[in-house]
Amino acid sequence: MNSPKEAAAPASNFLRHIVERDLEAGTYAARTFAGTPGDAAHHAGAPPDPARIRTRFPPEPNGYLHIGHAKSITLNFGLAQEYGGICHLRFDDTNPEKEEQEFVDAIIDEVRWLGFDWHALEPALDGEPTSHLYFASDYFDFMYRAAEALVQAGLAYVDEQSADEIRAHRGDFGTPGTNSPFRDRTPAENLARLRQMKAGEFDDGAAVLRARLDMASPNINLRDPVIYRIKRATHHNTGDRWCIYPMYAYAHPIEDALENITHSICTLEFEDQRPWYDWLLDKLCELGLLAQPRPHQYEFARLNVTYVITSKRKLRQLVDERIVAGWDDPRMPTIAGLRRRGYTPESLRLMCERAGTSKAGGWTEYASLDAALRDDLDPKAPRAMAVLDPVELRLANWAGLFGSEAHREACHAPVHPQRPELGERRFALGPRLWIERDDFAEVPAKGFFRLFAGNRVRLKYGYVIECTGCEKDASGRVAAVLATVVPDTKSGTPGADAVKVKGTITWVGADDCARAEVRLYDRLFTEAQPDAGGKDFKASLNPESLRVVSGYVEAALAGAGADVRFQIERHGYFVTERHDHAPGRPVLNRIAPLRETWTSK
Ligand code: ATP
Ligand code: MG
Repeated sequence: MNSPKEAAAPASNFLRHIVERDLEAGTYAARTFAGTPGDAAHHAGAPPDPARIRTRFPPEPNGYLHIGHAKSITLNFGLAQEYGGICHLRFDDTNPEKEEQEFVDAIIDEVRWLGFDWHALEPALDGEPTSHLYFASDYFDFMYRAAEALVQAGLAYVDEQSADEIRAHRGDFGTPGTNSPFRDRTPAENLARLRQMKAGEFDDGAAVLRARLDMASPNINLRDPVIYRIKRATHHNTGDRWCIYPMYAYAHPIEDALENITHSICTLEFEDQRPWYDWLLDKLCELGLLAQPRPHQYEFARLNVTYVITSKRKLRQLVDERIVAGWDDPRMPTIAGLRRRGYTPESLRLMCERAGTSKAGGWTEYASLDAALRDDLDPKAPRAMAVLDPVELRLANWAGLFGSEAHREACHAPVHPQRPELGERRFALGPRLWIERDDFAEVPAKGFFRLFAGNRVRLKYGYVIECTGCEKDASGRVAAVLATVVPDTKSGTPGADAVKVKGTITWVGADDCARAEVRLYDRLFTEAQPDAGGKDFKASLNPESLRVVSGYVEAALAGAGADVRFQIERHGYFVTERHDHAPGRPVLNRIAPLRETWTSK
């Protein structure tokens, strides 16, 4: 496993090479940028673009972001940061029916939480940071103008075939398509019809605008792709202004070009769209609507993580069928869920960086996310003690040794063992405490060094004790473990090393702790690839993905605010629950155990 230090120096990848090549060659040096996206005319006379490169993260606001989006965010914002560029956050909101403000707000919040910012200082402007938050729908006017220009140049036509006819005439891998009977109308006829479409003179679905390329192309994406359709739907941004909407594949390249994007990075499924991306932007440059140098598209393999599903449809199913408690259920692979679970932005970014960027694909182990979390938190998380499966421990010789049952021995421990500057935690040891039930055995197995009658262990940061036996309840279950304190063995005192023990156990004082609800999360699925090959992902739900226990935590932890992370000794990394925790009424989520314990069933 990489150390955090190694991870800080990013491994190179093909995208970094491309960016470096373009910077060296000055590919984008001639760009101008006038601050807000505009067309070629808008750019005329504008100052040079101060950003050496521009990338973008272009979510469609039709769902919550997930771990795969974290990869895309980290990649796009990360490249811009590394190479003195700017990354735009752009909502690809060209599909009015599925998009909602709720998702826009959540995405903005989550990108920011991941540690990225779309505000940038643009020296060519007025010195104020510029916001590079954009909506594709803000470009609808330009997109429509570009469509008219394509029609006038004979490069697009209105097709009045039905959707079924269009599909049937498109052909398939082995069969070339056939031309639409409407393909050879004059530009004037097409322009008139496009304007009628826009004016609402056609019914939904009665006509579409198609680019005029090649119905026999081996690349089906080039067989006269549809670029506008009629859809009477209210858009979250433009309301009822439009009854025609651009198709994603037409809109996206134009969005990139208007924003002066240099490297348009997407996942591999768009590889076959690249010739169309290039064709469209080159034509619009030739027609004088856009300026060279124009953006270029590069594809990389999407992030796949084991034990996780990322299909928006299936994630929605988990929520709708109440298999999980909501989009931010700590078992969900959504950014909202991972955040609530307690993963840090640093750990997500580290995992994405370590997963690498290539065209090859493959699967990233879920365990690598936990490893990244440990690497992030180990050097910084305060330590705490807690008992998650408590049984009482009674120290019989307490009053005899210290003069009274009421006496408390002050114990202390570092907040962090390697960081003395963080100070100390204090807690009180008394005659009654809580320990883990499995730290006691009536009949010890071979190699068990903790509590059994006649054995000595150290109470961490406290005394060595000697076990004398246990008490049981009517059902025969151990109700209390009994022990005596071995005098003069307190940690940090000269006598501490006089008695050697093989085991040390964690504990909390019965009157110096708080009862806590502890949510022990595990993977949501028992299969590494829950939905591979069309499998029913609901068949491999892990029945133990959430176990809620009632434990005891040391006072310092109980007093913390919400959303604070701790390493609980021996148990792992925990966070005080974002919504349900309150000081004095602790609720904790386990983020990850201290080491990898998962074994596939
Ligand atoms: P949809 O099917 O709704 O388009 P999507 O996952 O592509 O789903 P978008 O909102 O379009 O969602 O994605 C925004 C960006 O995130 C896109 O550039 C997309 O390529 C990228 N992205 C999505 N999933 C992954 C993934 N698993 N790994 C890397 N990038 C991803
Ligand atoms: Mg998409």
